[in-house]
Amino acid sequence: MTKKQHIETILAQAGNRSDDEKTGAVSTPLYFSTAYRHAGLGQSTGYDYSRETNPTRDQLQQALAKLENGDTAFALSSGMAAIQLVFTQFKTGDEIVVSDDLYGGSFRFFDLLTDNYGLKFDLWDGQDYARLTELTKHAETKGIWLETPSNPTMKIIDIHHTAEIAHKNGMKVIVDNTFYTPLLQQPLNEGADIVVHSATKYLSGHNDILAGAVVCKSQDDADLIDHNLTTTGAVLDPFDCWLLLRSLKTLPLRLAQHERNAKAIVADLEKNSAVEKVLYPGHGGMISFYVRDESWVNTILQNLEIISFAESLGGVESLMTVPAIQTHKDLSVAEREAKGITRNLLRLSVGIENSDDLIDDLDHAISVAAKNTIKTTN
Ligand SMILES: *Cc1c(COP(=O)(O)O)cnc(C)c1O
Repeated sequence: MTKKQHIETILAQAGNRSDDEKTGAVSTPLYFSTAYRHAGLGQSTGYDYSRETNPTRDQLQQALAKLENGDTAFALSSGMAAIQLVFTQFKTGDEIVVSDDLYGGSFRFFDLLTDNYGLKFDLWDGQDYARLTELTKHAETKGIWLETPSNPTMKIIDIHHTAEIAHKNGMKVIVDNTFYTPLLQQPLNEGADIVVHSATKYLSGHNDILAGAVVCKSQDDADLIDHNLTTTGAVLDPFDCWLLLRSLKTLPLRLAQHERNAKAIVADLEKNSAVEKVLYPGHGGMISFYVRDESWVNTILQNLEIISFAESLGGVESLMTVPAIQTHKDLSVAEREAKGITRNLLRLSVGIENSDDLIDDLDHAISVAAKNTIKTTN
């Protein structure tokens, strides 16, 4: 059978048949061994030491590479470790263009690279291509870093068009694909060179593993990243590799339910007069919305009974975040205001519960908050 398999099949089967010679195990064997015995000088089973290669991690990495349609994938100990690894290819003096609405921790890392390592970052709004073309002309500009949909204001950036402009000037295009996942968007197919994930989010999907992934298209990029990962060492441990591989098998089912629920909630919030504006990029399970009065926020959070006020996303349990005081707290007030990250902005990671229950939970919490204000102003 040579026909290309669908992604649901590839994921459900990931790791199966990896131990056919010995046991026929259907679930991927979990190898904790850090050291691997050699038969003699110059001989190796392909496994020597677990920072370099591990059989369980290999199975996960193969699944991740297929999922993003890349050649090579690396499993890291967190999303930030994945981001840091990608930046090991840049040097002091290099200039990187970054889209201006990103995960807050990425900004914090870019500040560190600016202050301690002499990299330079140019902000780009993801829409103004004349400005991008201008930035790519600087001789020092080596790469562009994107997150689309943007975080938390859900702007869409055209990866294909951006990559065309960047590649004319020999720049690397790197996309953080955490929000949409490869089921909704495959940046490497659009022309990106490297994809990064916080696998803590949708890829693992159960709010119980901290993990990251890097997927490369070219062998040259993969060789450099591989060398730098062996050197720096933030690989994912075998047990979390096993858990993440297991979790990936249900990603298509989970994502379909996240998206169905999100669309139902968006339709409901848009009718709610206490909600000023809803930001939804059209797909996936992430919604941001502005409530009319920032003084309602704490009451809303305290009256949610199903949705948890907690700082993450992409899991089966619905979580609510306040970007201005949580994920994006390290930005200055002026930076936050410019991006629309105001105190009345809430970000909802829609879980896989029943959408009617989530809608009731939200409507109830918002109405308690809105009623309280009416009472106090009277
Ligand atoms: C959470 C997140 C990260 C950081 O990942 P960790 O796994 O928390 O280290 C990076 N990018 C995005 C878009 C994220 O949501």
